[in-house]
Amino acid sequence: MTAAFSIGIDLGTSGCRAVVLDAAGNRLGAARVPLAAPVRRQDGGVEQDPHLWLEATLQVLQQVAPHTHGLGPGRLCVDATSATLLLSRPDGIPLGPALMYNDARAIQQARRIDEVAAPASAARGPGSSLAKLLYLAQRHSAEGHWPRAPVLALHQADWISARLMEQPDALDLPDRHAGACGHSDWNNALKLGFDLNTETWPGWVRGLVPSGVQLPRVHPPGSPLGRIHRRIIDQTGLPHDLTVCAGTTDSTAAVIAAGAGQVGDAVTSLGSTLVLKILGDRPIAAPEFGVYSHRLGRHWVAGGASNSGGAVLRHYFADERIQALSARIDPDTASGLDYYPLTAAGERFPFADPHRAPRLAPRPPDDARFLQGLLEGIARIEQMGYQRLAELGAPMPRRILTTGGGARNHTWLRMRQRLLGVPVVVATEQDAAVGAALLALRGQP
Ligand code: ADP
Repeated sequence: MTAAFSIGIDLGTSGCRAVVLDAAGNRLGAARVPLAAPVRRQDGGVEQDPHLWLEATLQVLQQVAPHTHGLGPGRLCVDATSATLLLSRPDGIPLGPALMYNDARAIQQARRIDEVAAPASAARGPGSSLAKLLYLAQRHSAEGHWPRAPVLALHQADWISARLMEQPDALDLPDRHAGACGHSDWNNALKLGFDLNTETWPGWVRGLVPSGVQLPRVHPPGSPLGRIHRRIIDQTGLPHDLTVCAGTTDSTAAVIAAGAGQVGDAVTSLGSTLVLKILGDRPIAAPEFGVYSHRLGRHWVAGGASNSGGAVLRHYFADERIQALSARIDPDTASGLDYYPLTAAGERFPFADPHRAPRLAPRPPDDARFLQGLLEGIARIEQMGYQRLAELGAPMPRRILTTGGGARNHTWLRMRQRLLGVPVVVATEQDAAVGAALLALRGQP
């Protein structure tokens, strides 16, 4: 059944956003509430009480609900930070705080995973959801908090979606797998070790997970899961005919929002760091470069993240100064400088070198020329990044959509276009919540 509207919810690092789209994809309304910063522990832990996410989600839903009235059936999809994980009872009550995406404590658990994991698995490394699952299971059982009922391992988007849905017996949907808890999607489940080719949990993942923990059922992002919970309707004023769909990760939602839909469509995010994504027709993976692929409909989104990016620019110049100096740069003439801009030593992609030193000398007296060298340096890393992805089996970009704070710099766009030799354009839509809403409305591109 086609939806008359959709709601996308994006749980990011600093806030929760909701966007309402009509059936044609036009924006009907939006809302944002800030999220408190997660609690940082001295031992490298980064935790958050999941109830804060739920409160923020209910607030934005309440704010956008009036835009959905009288339209007909709707769909809702949640995207959230990748590899943020919690353990929950089947009724949705968390066993404790969630481990955020950047929690760095699961080092021992990552070693155990390394011994048995498939070589290119995205579940490797202490940041993976699987390492966090093992860490949390160990901690809760050591603290004696282990319940009798099965424990569910859920990502941020999985848990929020579950809390918004009716229990399975209240469902009247074709998908009999649907239910309130214990569901994930291809994109979130990737770092939990789910095999996207066979759509199964590999034996080595099952072997690692303690018997009391239930791995989620994994669905294609955007596929219908369950009906909105009556309590949520009462709390927010949303209409009854609203279906909750399987979610996705924030970065995948951002790729959809940016408009990538064909093989060769690339998305460069020029935020604090430089993140590249490209749509291809097969998955590629290279753990040494931190490269792996998300499945998106018929396509695969391969990505890599460099430590270079806007943080280096901000180290030297305020945003207004960057804008003013950029107006003095001729994008068609090279500066002759050969920088590799980093804020500290160490790089992962496109070069896997933990000791790689920043190269930022010589610094010319003219700040505009210095900035030009920095912008060119980051653009060269972008170029080498797409070359690296191509060496690993991805297509070369046919066009590059650009997002993030650096996308507003048109001088830089021209410089990048000259270097990369393909159209480089600003993505018209940079809001991940729109990507989630489009996923709910149209399914995967
Ligand atoms: P993040 O969400 O990763 O923190 P943003 O997408 O908000 O990052 O982008 C912030 C970055 O954009 C900053 O590092 C800043 O240096 C850079 N930036 C801001 N304005 C410009 C500009 N006009 N040209 C190039 N970079 C810019």
